[in-house]
Amino acid sequence: MGSYSGDNDIIIIGAGICGLATALALHRKGIGSLVLERADSLRASGAAIGIHTNGWCALDQLGVGPTLREKANRIYVVRHVSLDNGMTREVLYGNEEYRNLVRSDLIQALFDGLPPGTVRFGCHIVQVKTDPVTSQSVLHFDDGSMATAKLFDFVSPIGNKLVHWFIFQTRLPEDYGISGKPEIIREAALELIKGFPPEMIELAENSLLDSFTFTKIRYRAPWDLLLGNLHRGTVTVAGDAMHVMGPFLGQGGAAGLEDAVVLGRCLAKAMQMDPNGDYAGKQLVTRVGLALDEYVKEGRMRVTRLSMQTYLNGLLMATSSGFTSGLIVFVLKTLFGGALEHTQYDSGRL
Ligand SMILES: Cc1cc2nc3c(=O)[nH]c(=O)nc-3n(C[C@H](O)[C@H](O)[C@H](O)COP(=O)(O)OP(=O)(O)OC[C@H]3O[C@@H](n4cnc5c(N)ncnc54)[C@H](O)[C@@H]3O)c2cc1C
Repeated sequence: MGSYSGDNDIIIIGAGICGLATALALHRKGIGSLVLERADSLRASGAAIGIHTNGWCALDQLGVGPTLREKANRIYVVRHVSLDNGMTREVLYGNEEYRNLVRSDLIQALFDGLPPGTVRFGCHIVQVKTDPVTSQSVLHFDDGSMATAKLFDFVSPIGNKLVHWFIFQTRLPEDYGISGKPEIIREAALELIKGFPPEMIELAENSLLDSFTFTKIRYRAPWDLLLGNLHRGTVTVAGDAMHVMGPFLGQGGAAGLEDAVVLGRCLAKAMQMDPNGDYAGKQLVTRVGLALDEYVKEGRMRVTRLSMQTYLNGLLMATSSGFTSGLIVFVLKTLFGGALEHTQYDSGRL
């Protein structure tokens, strides 16, 4: 375990996109927090990430939008090509802001916005329990030690010369144990794209060896998000810990940025002792519980819709039946309207 010991008001578990963004949101509202990360250093899972208009709205609220825009070209059209029948479909972005970012640039920009010492590395939390007497959250570390927190936690073409690509494979028969072994990942990737157009094979063959990563994708069912309990007392979840979804809409990370803005806003309202505010006269623990209720209420339908749309898009990609794909397209159009409706969301001011 790392060097953390002692009491802190707000503990955030995980220095991923969402954890760092939430710490930054709180910092911009004048509230300190401590981020505990099990890894020994900042790490970005994956090479790049596409950010749509809604994600840029959140990044602007966090104050890092302008810096990051300079590092990522804007994309105006996305072309989907079916390798089965050669059919192409173009999605025009028009006024939509869509850019691909190098993941480490995003993580670094969020980290750089935080005061020194906000993130502690090498701290692996294995359990969070609530003390029944004090209502404080008690963190249990992997070395058997404990610490208390009063509040809450989480668990759980870029530029001109850079291209982000990934291969999606359903139903891995077993864990290949290949994470961290780029040679084997590269070999498996080349095997999977045999028969693809030569320019794609060339792209994979010429990619730098250390840029190959392997990620197992999980998802939380949309109905679980709609009906599930997403916070208890002063503890809540956010980002993938709340709404992990498939990559078919490219919105998982941006949804985590939206969570950060909403959490920052709700918690700031609860923690700043405004004598005329909604929470005046209430105990801190009660105020924070109410703030987290508000956060969950505000985000639940948003993440349920994103998760449902992602799920249906994944089904659409996986099916080879004309009837099933027609049915899915009909449901998608009926429930979600245009293909880019999901980008038209503003998580509001911090
Ligand atoms: C192939 C692929 C493509 C994608 N493309 C896009 C895209 O284009 N656009 C988009 O918006 N999203 C995309 N996503 C989704 C996006 O990557 C995730 O939603 C996002 O990275 C989640 O961020 P997070 O901070 O919630 O979680 P994570 O990035 O998983 O961070 C969690 C952090 O918590 C730490 N941690 C976990 N458990 C503990 C513990 N017990 N104690 C201490 N620390 C702990 C971990 O080490 C990690 O650093 C894609 C995902 C995949 C797989």
